[in-house]
Amino acid sequence: MDFAFYQQLTEDALAGRLLDDEMALRVLCDEELDLIGLLHAAYAVRKAHHGNKVQVHILNNAQNGRCPEDCAYCAQARDSDVDITDYPLKSEQEILDEARIAYESGAFRYCMVFAGRGPNDQRIATLARLIQRIKATWPLEVCVSPGLLDADKARVLAEAGLDRLNHNLNTSRANYPHICTTHTYDDRLQTLQAARSAGLQVCSGLIAGMGETPQELVELARTLRELGAESIPVNFLLPFEAGKMQPRNLSPRYCLRILCLFRLMNPRAELRCAAGREFHLRSMQVMGLYPANSLFLEGYLNSRGSNRLDTLRMIREAGFEIESDQPLDELIDQADQAQGSSEQIELTVNRRAAIKSKQELRPALREQ
Ligand code: SF4
Repeated sequence: MDFAFYQQLTEDALAGRLLDDEMALRVLCDEELDLIGLLHAAYAVRKAHHGNKVQVHILNNAQNGRCPEDCAYCAQARDSDVDITDYPLKSEQEILDEARIAYESGAFRYCMVFAGRGPNDQRIATLARLIQRIKATWPLEVCVSPGLLDADKARVLAEAGLDRLNHNLNTSRANYPHICTTHTYDDRLQTLQAARSAGLQVCSGLIAGMGETPQELVELARTLRELGAESIPVNFLLPFEAGKMQPRNLSPRYCLRILCLFRLMNPRAELRCAAGREFHLRSMQVMGLYPANSLFLEGYLNSRGSNRLDTLRMIREAGFEIESDQPLDELIDQADQAQGSSEQIELTVNRRAAIKSKQELRPALREQ
């Protein structure tokens, strides 16, 4: 093992020094390096800034489908042939009920996601009302993913109490025209700058596996650092969400190297091992917790993930702690009891089996 190199990675990251291109590309591509050494280097940085804590996020797909944009990775895009359950905006009561369910499931943060190019003034007013009510009721951090936004709209959300705005850069500037033609990389950057100018925390990440080069991943990690992104979701392209676009060049070990790179180049960020954790990391998914300190529970926008019990057990068995008002042991007991009544989800490449049902997308309706 090249101990000096791994040590240098950790020292540079902890000292706030940016990895140069050569070092960063070695993290991604040098087959002479051992994965365990890279994970150890990234874990030392994760531990220094986040201890052994894991933040658990739950996504609420508050409105699904019917989007006029053509993002090639998205099941909700206008040209997508993925058979999703589309619906207009959920009622405010349904969204609030789902916030409560998320809180009781141990979520640290509740993320509301809206399909579409961006919100009009009426949607912004609805969002502001929802944010105020959630923040007044539960000690949840609230994140919204509303699409493209200007500074005035971002300010309204900030004044309502929003903690964080999500808008992923997704891929490199050079690759962007290959994944979307209805808006640009710069449109996305401007939305992030609007969020920043309103005083919001910024959550912005990527979807790996969309034809980007290793050099482009390095550039993206650097751009997110320059933006000071507090939160970076690292997604791995899911074939059943992406329709015709298929993931390229993703192996479990390469996915872990990507997580290590983003940790080493963004030492303080909340790094999320996000969509595709189960599908692409497979038997190695627990290793993602060494560079990353955050996960999604209960699947992704339109795709199932592993079930709640498996994810919570994985966190406990690897010796990590959940960052939640709810104790991890109690959450595991609750999920254990609930499992008898819920279907065990096998994640397969079968698109029909992997896409969420209406009941999973709208959990509050189950209680009515
Ligand atoms: S990512 Fe957002 S903007 Fe793009 S197609 Fe999907 S819902 Fe629409």
